[in-house]
Amino acid sequence: MSTSHSVNEKHRISAGQLDMPPRLLLGPGPSNAHPRVLQAIGMRQVGHLDPTFVGLMNEVQELLRYAWQTDNQLTIPVSGTGSAAMEASLANTVEPGDTVLVGVNGYFGLRLVDMAGRYGANVRQIEKPWGQVFSLDDLKAGLEAHRPAILALVHAETSTGACQPLEGVADLCRQYDCLLLIDTVTSLGGVPLFLDEWGVDVAYSGTQKCLSCPPGLSPLTLGPRAVEKLQNRKSQVANWYLDMSLVSKYWGSARTYHHTAPINMNYALREALRLVAEEGLEARWARHQANAELFWNGLAEMGMSCHVDAAYRLPSLTTVRVPEGVDAKAVAQRLLSEYNIEIAGGLGQLAGQVWRVGLMGFNSRPENVLLLLSALKKILGR
Ligand SMILES: *Cc1c(COP(=O)(O)O)cnc(C)c1O
Repeated sequence: MSTSHSVNEKHRISAGQLDMPPRLLLGPGPSNAHPRVLQAIGMRQVGHLDPTFVGLMNEVQELLRYAWQTDNQLTIPVSGTGSAAMEASLANTVEPGDTVLVGVNGYFGLRLVDMAGRYGANVRQIEKPWGQVFSLDDLKAGLEAHRPAILALVHAETSTGACQPLEGVADLCRQYDCLLLIDTVTSLGGVPLFLDEWGVDVAYSGTQKCLSCPPGLSPLTLGPRAVEKLQNRKSQVANWYLDMSLVSKYWGSARTYHHTAPINMNYALREALRLVAEEGLEARWARHQANAELFWNGLAEMGMSCHVDAAYRLPSLTTVRVPEGVDAKAVAQRLLSEYNIEIAGGLGQLAGQVWRVGLMGFNSRPENVLLLLSALKKILGR
């Protein structure tokens, strides 16, 4: 093939061999992937309809059901990070004009509001200060006032470190004939979750928080009432890529091509979920709780406090109050540059007031807690 054009060399930079620093990722995500997960990602590829890959898909689905404690048939990893499954959860269940009630007590509640609106929902909000949670009475009052088709709540608010109690919520939702949709991005694999016992209709998560897998897939599950709503839609799902009536034909028995599954990311997720099953949910939840308490006790010894009441405090994400007169950003920068430790600052209402510290999955270990505490002690001079 000859051409009269000459190649423009402007963008042909000489990039060095990849060499990223050994960061300890103790922020709100991503967390460090487990070494076995990183190893799995490099496994040779097969095609996305290869019989061995189909077997792997079944294993991923079954292990996701274990992690979530659900029997939902439609349980799959969506292609994309947590926000992809978040968007899929709404795109598939919201029909234009549906009232969607969102509990907003942090940043991710606001994102649900934004997304639901984009799919034509009549969005209503109930609010709590960031760091607090909704009581059953709060939720009942919201359902009574707004009569929504869907109630959306964030189980683990990564922006605040609060854990929304879910027991009893589904009974209210049945009473008011609405679906219960839950964000479990920072709880799956780190915080007790009993989707079926709690009566959750729709839930989604991400791979890069308590599952210790790189970002790139996002688990989604729809229970029978949500599937029925999907099957009886009057309008098409307004997002082709995330349309579960199409995607579920690939993950179901038909194995119909929709889009190419991210093969190696599914290897990674399988290994991450295999680690969850090996450890067992009870042990894993207890480990997250014990290491979080070690951290909270260490903070208290340094005269520091947590933003969230102990009764609703997430073990996977702690918001630490920034002491008077301390420059939060400067401390986070020194942790990164001097100790290779990443933590994050506050968002929205909590900007400048808290640090966000994640102890998620593989990173939830005593040695990481002690390292962070001693680095903080040095930097803060305590
Ligand atoms: C991280 C997170 C998301 C979004 O996930 P991405 O992987 O960043 O797209 C959604 N909800 C919560 C609660 C999260 O913590």
